[in-house]
Amino acid sequence: MDCDGVLCDFTGGVYDWFGVDREEWPKPGKPDIDNRIRDMIGVPVNVFWKSLTYDFWMNLHPTDFGRRIWYPLHDWLDSGRDLFILTNPVGRDSIQARQDWIREHIGPSWVRKTIFCGPKFVCANPDSILVDDLEKNVDLFRAAGGHAVLVPQPWNSLHDFEGDKAEYVLQQVKLIIEKGEGNG
Ligand SMILES: [Mg+2]
Repeated sequence: MDCDGVLCDFTGGVYDWFGVDREEWPKPGKPDIDNRIRDMIGVPVNVFWKSLTYDFWMNLHPTDFGRRIWYPLHDWLDSGRDLFILTNPVGRDSIQARQDWIREHIGPSWVRKTIFCGPKFVCANPDSILVDDLEKNVDLFRAAGGHAVLVPQPWNSLHDFEGDKAEYVLQQVKLIIEKGEGNG
């Protein structure tokens, strides 16, 4: 399961960090973070990433829908499945901060079940399911032979989704599992 944009509110954290009013995503369906940073926050992209300190990463708010996805998936661990956090924070102190964030908001034992990895598709296999808000990650994971569920967000192709995000994601995960079991 992904962290930024799923378990925690990275975008809201960026707006708060730079003192920018939270507003509608400027280009629905486009992950356009570079333009967003330049146009809305007014700093070059390289400066932006370098300015995200330990405190930025540590102060990100957990999302409500993320919790509502996480705990049901967590409960399924009893049925012999496994669950990992697969995350790619950027910047010098981001990994330490992400570990501390997970320790505080998810639980200490989950620090050792966190995989820091940019190319998430390396974890793809016929039994794995990625839950992620970034379309590119989902596409590459599927192309590498894994299953993936896209979490609806304004910056991906499910930007028009108006239902309950957590319910949708859990339903999609269940469908993949049921299909797999049916085939097996
Ligand atoms: Mg993400």
